[in-house]
Amino acid sequence: MSTINFPSHEKICEMVDKLQPEAIEKLKQLVSFDSLLGNEKDVQEYIHEVFNSLGLKVDRVPIVMDEIKDLPGFSPVEWEYNGKENIIGIHEPTPSDYVSNSQKKSLIFNGHIDVVPTGRDSLWEKNPFSPYVKDGRLYGRGSGDMKAGVIAFIIAYKAIKELGFLPASKLMLQTVVEEECTGNGTLACLARGYKADACIIPEPFPQIITAQVGLVWCRVTVQGRPAHVLEMGSGVNAIDGAMYVVAELRKLEEQWNNPQNIHPAFKQFKHPLNFNLGIINGGEWTSSVPCECTFELRAGFYPGADLKKIREELVSVIDKAATDKGLPYQIKWNGFQAEGYLTDPELPMMKALGETYRKALNREPEYSPVLCTTDTRFFGLYYGIPATCLGPESSHIHGIDESVSLESLRDITRVLACFISDWCGLQPAH
Ligand SMILES: [Zn+2]
Repeated sequence: MSTINFPSHEKICEMVDKLQPEAIEKLKQLVSFDSLLGNEKDVQEYIHEVFNSLGLKVDRVPIVMDEIKDLPGFSPVEWEYNGKENIIGIHEPTPSDYVSNSQKKSLIFNGHIDVVPTGRDSLWEKNPFSPYVKDGRLYGRGSGDMKAGVIAFIIAYKAIKELGFLPASKLMLQTVVEEECTGNGTLACLARGYKADACIIPEPFPQIITAQVGLVWCRVTVQGRPAHVLEMGSGVNAIDGAMYVVAELRKLEEQWNNPQNIHPAFKQFKHPLNFNLGIINGGEWTSSVPCECTFELRAGFYPGADLKKIREELVSVIDKAATDKGLPYQIKWNGFQAEGYLTDPELPMMKALGETYRKALNREPEYSPVLCTTDTRFFGLYYGIPATCLGPESSHIHGIDESVSLESLRDITRVLACFISDWCGLQPAH
């Protein structure tokens, strides 16, 4: 072998385009799994098969509570982790004299495979788990968030292989569980030692992500005193009490969103921190004063804020409001206890990704903050691994008729495939 023609960005993009029908077919298959929380097993078996067929070594990484419960970033849950697994497809390069000119850095592509509940199915045009294509978009729960992203990195790797090449450094494709409630799936992979020089998570944002908010979940139970409504004054209404506590929390939300309090990374937003009342339960009988009301709140906060202090601030508002009304209460911190995370756009990885984007798509990338959390925080905050998101454009994620743009899926796949070449380097497959 004398000279090797390593594939140009153009050749890589051509191969990605050629594989687009397969990408759409595989995405349909992925979306047809109803991989809601606790039901991720079947889709992970499917992914295991796909990684096998690509010639990747496959590791199944269970979430083991004892391995992660004392680690920074851990979030508590109320269920058992028996049998919950993340799937990792691993490419280990073999020594080669023929490596494309690159720095040979290792890379993780990570994507979550769990999806959120569908809301009322009758509001959807079709069954949320019967994916279909219409006007260049693929519809279904999880299509954008983020099964298209998972397909993007699978097809990106396949495109390199089909060209007769392999990454010249270690590449790991990870599909994780539990992203939508804690991030403990990704944490379990890091705890097992899966690290790299960079991580990209193709969450449904077509911009390179520079900042994400932190967030906590809490469950507040307010106790009242039941009575017949004919003597309502002798009882204490737990639902009224909970509404009062929520109204006081809204005041705290407004304070955190006050223009002078907005974190510089989120200045472009009028209201970056959302308090979402996601679940509420209370009362037993329409003509009885309810004795208990429970609500679950998701509260956003800025990067750099101390999680403990944020919780203290929330507690002090809840405590004052409940005490005002003479209501006993309980607070439980379950699910997300996630710190905010900033990715400096000047990091070599961020610049390299922008450069690859420019070459692969012939246009300028955008760099942007997002108002949610993603698993990038674990890599960046606790393991010193620069991490960002860049994925296919989607709409109505967590809503009704969620969809993903297939053109954007192709574009992001092009970028990820070219990034394998630019970041990991390539070597001939044989
Ligand atoms: Zn997501």
